[in-house]
Amino acid sequence: MKNIVERTKKDGSPIKVLIVDDSIFITKQLNQILASAGYEVVGIANNGGEALELYQELSPNIDLVTMDITMPKMDGITALEKIIAFDKNAKVVMVTAIGKEDLVKKAILAGAKNFIIKPLDRTAILARLNAVCADLC
Ligand SMILES: [Mg+2]
Repeated sequence: MKNIVERTKKDGSPIKVLIVDDSIFITKQLNQILASAGYEVVGIANNGGEALELYQELSPNIDLVTMDITMPKMDGITALEKIIAFDKNAKVVMVTAIGKEDLVKKAILAGAKNFIIKPLDRTAILARLNAVCADLC
């Protein structure tokens, strides 16, 4: 059965995503959810520094980033700021635990396109990501 939320770009290619989270449990979960909806996971980073490096390496062949906020070495907000400084059109969606509204607000002001709340809910995630990528499809 074809997944009703499956999305591809106008040229028929999959939306390319970089997943950033220091929790292997979360990266696995996101990877599974995104792959099941037709997204192509092109990289996984476990801290902000790795995320920035991978983004620069993969650019422009990257459409979307899911960015955890709390991570060691470089947090997600700093990584977001650096990615936006590198590519002002970057599509970054923050991933955060409930109750971090102040940090989410800060991230949105810094250029994040949307946010996802943990624990992860497949339907909610795909709705948010599809909305952020609507212009590509
Ligand atoms: Mg974390």
